[in-house]
Amino acid sequence: TVSIALFTQDLRLHDNPVLHAARTAADQVVPLFVLDPAVEAAGFAAPNRQAFLADCLEDLDASLRRIGSRLTVRRGEPAEQTARLAAETGAGSVHVAAGVSAFAHRREARLRAVFGERLHVHDASLTVVPAGRITPAGRDHYAVFTPYHRAWQQAPRRTVLAAPRTLATPDGVGSDTFAAEGPSSPGVPRGGETVARRRWRAWDPDGYADAHDDLAADATSRLSPYLHFGCLSPTELAAHALRHDGAGAEAFVRQLAWRDFHHQVLAARPDAARYDYRTKDDHWHHDEEEAEAWRRGRTGYPIIDAGMRQLAHEGWMHNRARLLTASFLAKTLYLDWRIGAAHFLALLVDGDVANNQLNWQWVAGTGTDTRPNRVLNPLRQADRYDPAGDYVRRWVPELAHLPGPAVHRPWLLDGDYPPPIVAPEELTARFRRGRP
Ligand code: FAD
Repeated sequence: TVSIALFTQDLRLHDNPVLHAARTAADQVVPLFVLDPAVEAAGFAAPNRQAFLADCLEDLDASLRRIGSRLTVRRGEPAEQTARLAAETGAGSVHVAAGVSAFAHRREARLRAVFGERLHVHDASLTVVPAGRITPAGRDHYAVFTPYHRAWQQAPRRTVLAAPRTLATPDGVGSDTFAAEGPSSPGVPRGGETVARRRWRAWDPDGYADAHDDLAADATSRLSPYLHFGCLSPTELAAHALRHDGAGAEAFVRQLAWRDFHHQVLAARPDAARYDYRTKDDHWHHDEEEAEAWRRGRTGYPIIDAGMRQLAHEGWMHNRARLLTASFLAKTLYLDWRIGAAHFLALLVDGDVANNQLNWQWVAGTGTDTRPNRVLNPLRQADRYDPAGDYVRRWVPELAHLPGPAVHRPWLLDGDYPPPIVAPEELTARFRRGRP
């Protein structure tokens, strides 16, 4: 007997419920990844993520070969390609992880239409607690993080699965090749489970509780791209962290709960990727020049500019910088959050519909923040989270000559730096005037 393990955002051998089930169901497994042109057409296949994905697929194939198998890559509509492969190999069942986006829901519906009962969807792969598994009374998802987190901590966990040591795969199955196209940002990390596990082992969560908001310390795990592509299992990470108790590990696991939280919102409300989740705000200011200054890291506020330049260079940005730059766009400039979210998605290696769109909505005040009217003041935030100015000097080299925190207010000392596009005393004015 033959089964198909359809890989999606779970490009790993360790703790992979889909692979495990496919292996239990049949004597031979065909590991499959389908490159869907619809993802490219929707603009979601950004060059930084494509480069990372190419590494992930190469690494997965190499790991599968070490256990006697290999990866089959096909290009086309996923249900159609899976059906073709099933016909070629005589596969009797198809295994896939449950997704949370509108795109994943559609893929699953198409697979269901083709395979019916022969399709097995596994919901405990993408997140620690499957979306929809815990719900408040009378609702299909949690809209507030704190009660969600409480329930999440109590929710039962599945056991972590070992990586298979052998995997039998039928011979003679053809595979397409995949190479990333288009230039990626110079600082994009290498993808794949092998690198992911090395990085994970090397990262020490001890300082995390105190330093995760310190921009210059760069003390966060940087595991987000690996979690996005499923090179690492969030279930395995959470289980491992909780065995090493300590404030750092606990704070890290709390971030994994945030990730789950946004996933369960999106699973229940796939429209939230595009439309305001709670507060409808159509009073946005329109100014393409300001949006462009923000994208290019030339707002005149070095802390904002530093974040945007880190994003352009690495395809990644520190969480505190994401909060600041997003608040600056949506609240200070009072531009539509979708403009900012689209720019992030075009560059982030960890760019993720659930985490990106719903974090943007959280910051813009249209989403799940219970204090939607807060506006982060970039100067106060800079003094607090980059007190010595080192993060700014790292990313805005033309200000490297300004000492200490003076780098946060170049208009007082340096006539060459772009002047602030919004005067410091006007940082909250548009939002207060324009908010319905
Ligand atoms: P760590 O601090 O080491 O956290 C561990 C893991 O927890 C992360 O890898 C990530 O998977 C998860 N996590 C941490 N913070 C959050 C959060 N606020 N929401 C959801 N998950 C979280 N994260 C993405 O993975 N993809 C995105 O597209 C994305 N867009 C964002 C956009 C905005 C405007 C904001 C404010 C945040 C966004 N985040 C996104 C969340 C967060 O900034 C990143 O996950 C984090 O910076 C990744 O760095 P790290 O791996 O070092 O995180």
